[in-house]
Amino acid sequence: MNKLDTALVSSALREAGFVLTDSVKDADVVVINTCSVREHAEARVLSHLGHLKHLKKHRPGMVVAVIGCMAQRLGDALLEHDAVNVVCGPGQIRQLVRLLEDALSQNVKRLVVAEAIRDRMDSSSDALEQFESSYGHQSDADGGPPGQAFVRVMRGCDNFCTYCIVPYVRGPEQCRPPERVLNQVRKLADKGVRQVTLLGQTVNAYRHRDGHRTYSLADLLGMVAEVEGIEWIRFVTSYPSEEFYDDILHAMASSPKVCHYLHMPAQSGSDRVLRAMNRHYTAEQYLELLARARRIVPDLAIAGDFIVGFPGETEDDFRATVDLVRQARYRNCFVFKYSPRPGTTADKRHQDSVPDEVKQRRNVELLAVQEAISEQLSSEFLGRTVTVLVEGLSKKARVNPLDSQSHPQLVGRTATDSIVVFNGSPSLAGRFVDVRITATSPLTLFGDLVVG
Ligand code: SAH
Ligand code: SF4
Repeated sequence: MNKLDTALVSSALREAGFVLTDSVKDADVVVINTCSVREHAEARVLSHLGHLKHLKKHRPGMVVAVIGCMAQRLGDALLEHDAVNVVCGPGQIRQLVRLLEDALSQNVKRLVVAEAIRDRMDSSSDALEQFESSYGHQSDADGGPPGQAFVRVMRGCDNFCTYCIVPYVRGPEQCRPPERVLNQVRKLADKGVRQVTLLGQTVNAYRHRDGHRTYSLADLLGMVAEVEGIEWIRFVTSYPSEEFYDDILHAMASSPKVCHYLHMPAQSGSDRVLRAMNRHYTAEQYLELLARARRIVPDLAIAGDFIVGFPGETEDDFRATVDLVRQARYRNCFVFKYSPRPGTTADKRHQDSVPDEVKQRRNVELLAVQEAISEQLSSEFLGRTVTVLVEGLSKKARVNPLDSQSHPQLVGRTATDSIVVFNGSPSLAGRFVDVRITATSPLTLFGDLVVG
């Protein structure tokens, strides 16, 4: 979601005549897009701002803007930071260019955030929609892997999981009309995009009423699949609700374009903790959902999120989470230590009672359990040939200057979101290739390009 916002903002800035610099030291304007989901993310922003404050001693004219959820959450308090000139909430990003121009020419400080986010987001959403429609189709051009783009289908969230800040900083759930989404996808396809990822906090609950017809995510997937040029379609994140929605899984099973990949966070395996989190399912119902999904899409790769150390989480609660991970057989999972977020129900109701070293131990243990499963699932790929959408040079890619014939290491992903590393020409970025897998690690497959 934040990558998409960054792309939208940089498209708008580019259109207004700004150019991207290689180094922050050369910049007249620095825009920091922020996340509020965990305190750690906010702490990193504050440390960046500390660094910028130093830089500004030598570059007094430099303008620093903070945008995104932290801007919305902290507002005034952020503007008081010496380094900061502009604070702009996620619902107001269409105003960013003007705010920056004002700050550059008049050396003023400016704050624009939604006042009461739950009310004001509604009135600003038309303008937000316009902004997104104007720049959304350029989002591939802004530093992400070529040939791929994110497309938002829902804004905000109405779920109010007790630990989560998202509904407070992103406002109420709103589904974008299918026509808007489709227009954007068509433009992206015309520009060479081959994979789109549809974004929403509870994307499987997508619903849009148009006269007497209601469009679901399954309908949207069908419509996007008809766009010429689009080869792979993903969607994140799915909420494990009872009505998870067999029609989405059938769309996956029947359309060769819909990737067999589901990101469906469980958060905990303890029913007691799930209740305290205001997640509307039990561990058993969750596992039954996974089983049903795999009956419809047998080779489905599933990823999950977990929070360890939620207030009051006992050793037994944690054991239940470990059990769930063992049974779920995720391809990959993300584990987070509970981070109290000011204003959320969990923070108001409970002490952050689990000590950090306990959170840390549970975090490490859960990841270790998952790693063994990932390793086993990876090893099943040995000797197989997989289709990969190439992202570009791998992090470790080094071109041998003495051997102009040798190809550097590339990285890409399969439709089931496995990372694949192989040697090939960088010109393959954004294209589909076949790779024969010769070695595996828990999260990465290694192989050779199949030529011809
Ligand atoms: N809408 C998505 C998740 C959005 S936030 C969903 O409902 O699944 C991404 C992940 O951050 C969550 O899945 C959760 O695991 C984690 N997270 C959210 N709030 C958190 C908090 N206060 N502390 C630690 N992790 C948190
Ligand atoms: Fe946060 Fe829950 Fe909404 Fe996900 S569904 S964004 S965790 S409130």
